This record gives sequence, structure tokens and C-alpha cells, in this order.
Amino acid sequence: ASTRDLLLSRIRDVADYPKPGVMFKDITPLLADPVAFTALTDALAELCVKHGATKIVGLEARGFILAAPVAVRAGLGFVPVRKAGKLPGATLSQAYELEYGTAEIEIHAEDLSPDDRIMVIDDVLATGGTAGASLELIRRAGARVAGVAVLMELGFLAGRGRLEEHLQGAPLEAL
Ligand code: 5GP
Repeated sequence: ASTRDLLLSRIRDVADYPKPGVMFKDITPLLADPVAFTALTDALAELCVKHGATKIVGLEARGFILAAPVAVRAGLGFVPVRKAGKLPGATLSQAYELEYGTAEIEIHAEDLSPDDRIMVIDDVLATGGTAGASLELIRRAGARVAGVAVLMELGFLAGRGRLEEHLQGAPLEAL
């Protein structure tokens, strides 16, 4: 079977989480399966190499679980994008809109350089708000964008369209 089928078979649908009406895609069965987790890590690392990434940015919190082994596998550095207030050094902040209200994410700008091409990694692309804000952070930090790579894109939420203006032609890859 294909990697895609293997990965899909290890994602669990959880109804009404975190609130009624939402079908949550739970990746913990995939993480618990070493064959599937390794296949996912390898596939994401391959995309990073393919698109010429020099560094990986992972998005808190599930993005960290994927981005760290991918960075090691690809021989690249890892830089976290965290929710506001969690990074100790000098940060850049970016606010973005949620369904209700706003959220804010931050990065240590000094960990990116103008020579870097950044691949952003997360587990799920939903509305695209988080990934879009991370691309703004990366550009404001002076680095270039290699692309965004996720395990899963929830097509019905149209995140790809929302991300377009932030990608500026860079690829969005969904396994
Ligand atoms: P967005 O900003 O694209 O609307 O939401 C994406 C973020 O929310 C990602 O960081 C992702 O981890 C989380 N997320 C949203 N929906 C789901 C889901 O169904 N499953 C998982 N695992 N994460 C989700």
C-alpha cells in the first residue's frame, strides 16, 4: 500500500472535539506506530530537500512533534514558532484571526538569517491562519520561504486559498 494509505489508516476521527460539531483528526495513533511515524518523517524530510530548505520551522504544538525529527532526518536546524509569551529572547509577534477572536504567535528572529529558505511544518492545515501568520513572521525576520508541508489538509476549510497571499508562489505540500 502507498504511504498515503498507511498514514490515513493511522489517523483517528474524534467526533465533537474540541467542541460539538467538529470532527477532530487525531494523529496520536500515527505517532504511536513506528512504521507510520518513520514513513511520515521520511516523506516530510524528502519534501524539505526537494524544495531546497535550509531550516525547518515547526508550529506549536503538534507541529513540533513532526518538525524536530524531520529536521534531524534532513540534516537541518529547527526553529520553533510558539504561542505568544513562551519564548525567552527577543521575539517578533504576529497576530491572526480565529473564528472567534484573535491569536498571536512568536519567533526568535535571530535564529533565521537572510540566507535561509524556510520550510514550515505542521500536522494539519485547517483554515490556514496559523501557517499564514508563520510565513509573515519568517519574511519579517528577513528569511525566504521554501514552502509549507503538512501531514493533512482539511480541504473543506479552504485553507489553501487563504494561504495563497502569504505563500507568494511557494509550494503548499499536503501528504
Ligand atoms: P488553522 O490555523 O489552519 O485553522 O489551524 C491549524 C492548527 O490547528 C494546526 O496547528 C493544527 O495542529 C490545529 N488543528 C486544527 N484542526 C485540527 C484537527 O482536526 N486535528 C489536528 N491534529 N490539529 C488540528
